[in-house]
Amino acid sequence: MADYSAVFNCPGCGSPLETLEGTISLQCSYCGLIMRLGSPGRILKYFYDSRMDNFAAKFAAEKYIKKNGLSLKFTPISNRLYHLPFYRFKGMSYALYSKDVMSEIREGDYDLPMKNTVFHRRCRNFDLTIPAFDNKMFGLDSLGVRPGVMPLTVYHKIFFPSESALLDITVTPEQAEQTAMIMFFFGVGMTAADKNYLSSEMIGEGLSVIYYPVWAYSVERDGMVSTMFIDGLTKDVYHEVFDSFEYNGRGADVSKAVELNPTQHKCPNCGFDLPVSELSLYYYCANCDRSYTLEDDDYHSVELKCASHENGSNYHPFWRFQFAIGETDTVGKFSKILTGEIPLIKKSKANNPFYLYIPAFHSGNLNALTNLGGRLCRMQPELSFNKKSQPPSADMFLPESEGLELARFYWNLLRSKYMFLCGEKYDFESCDIKKGELIWLGLNRSYGGPKKVNFKKAQASYI
Ligand SMILES: [Zn+2]
Ligand SMILES: [Zn+2]
Repeated sequence: MADYSAVFNCPGCGSPLETLEGTISLQCSYCGLIMRLGSPGRILKYFYDSRMDNFAAKFAAEKYIKKNGLSLKFTPISNRLYHLPFYRFKGMSYALYSKDVMSEIREGDYDLPMKNTVFHRRCRNFDLTIPAFDNKMFGLDSLGVRPGVMPLTVYHKIFFPSESALLDITVTPEQAEQTAMIMFFFGVGMTAADKNYLSSEMIGEGLSVIYYPVWAYSVERDGMVSTMFIDGLTKDVYHEVFDSFEYNGRGADVSKAVELNPTQHKCPNCGFDLPVSELSLYYYCANCDRSYTLEDDDYHSVELKCASHENGSNYHPFWRFQFAIGETDTVGKFSKILTGEIPLIKKSKANNPFYLYIPAFHSGNLNALTNLGGRLCRMQPELSFNKKSQPPSADMFLPESEGLELARFYWNLLRSKYMFLCGEKYDFESCDIKKGELIWLGLNRSYGGPKKVNFKKAQASYI
């Protein structure tokens, strides 16, 4: 996954800092200020600063005309820089589908056709950009894969190039997510007619708005008007329409995106600086021994619950949700419907509540992660918790609301093995699910350590 970096000025000392887009918290390496930039659900705005001026735009247009063997005799009509808003949406997609497979069984002297339903799951990380504007004249549907050659600049109205026109944001984040889902499912060939979808979830890890610079250069040539669109970063004409061009924005913005406004990142109880992390939504105060999760742009105190699971000391975060279907509310009762799961039969577990376990950390290998979550759901481990803080082996990055979405996927994964559980009564929506609990389980391997905050001094020319 390409990581975009972004430049902003430290509120403590004014130094330009470069960090990864979507960073939750960091420390300024010049003045030491510890600050928080992100929060789950907060959409930030960024832009690419075009290093082209009017003259360079004219030069790009001439280059294009020459390349196409056309006459350089033209009269410029208008030349203007626009910034086109795109949503960048990254996260994970989980899909569970069935496929009917025909096979033959032998009965006496005959081979009889038999239909078998086979379940497959597909989990992928995705990173997509989707237009947040509806003007098709620009001919730009996606940012594609932009190499990290140039960092984004954090958007602030007062620092934005005044000669540039911002396009209205007319697509809501929800509409963008829908589009992303459709694009993604088409892109990976998941829409084939022989596949039947049982469950599909898109878990967003980050959503932001990125403004991309495009010059619209209109000319009159041999009595014809044409507009060339020039990519503000590559400085090439990528699209031409035989029409004049004018855009008048209304200043609309339905993105709910906000300007970056770093806040202090301190323990709400004792005021001690909290650790910093690119991804983590969980913070532990070593001074007063309290734990917090980030929700709704605020710190929420959580009980620290650690348990060893596989006799290892690689502590990984999970959400677990107590789960029941009517009277079926204990491991013993679930063992009567999930009849193939041998670990559920164990007597000592019979009266334990039944939980769905959702990994709340990131892994490049989503299949290994899904195997782990599925295994915990099928095992219902007997855990003994303590409140001793353990150094985490992975960042907690999944908000509870997204964990709940994934709980539906894990339940569908469990029930897909049993034909008689396909009824409405067993639909996730008909079941009873309690509030999530954040737990840390010691595993015998690490699924990728906490990501280090990557940051360095920005090139002054970008500011
Ligand atoms: Zn600073
Ligand atoms: Zn504290």
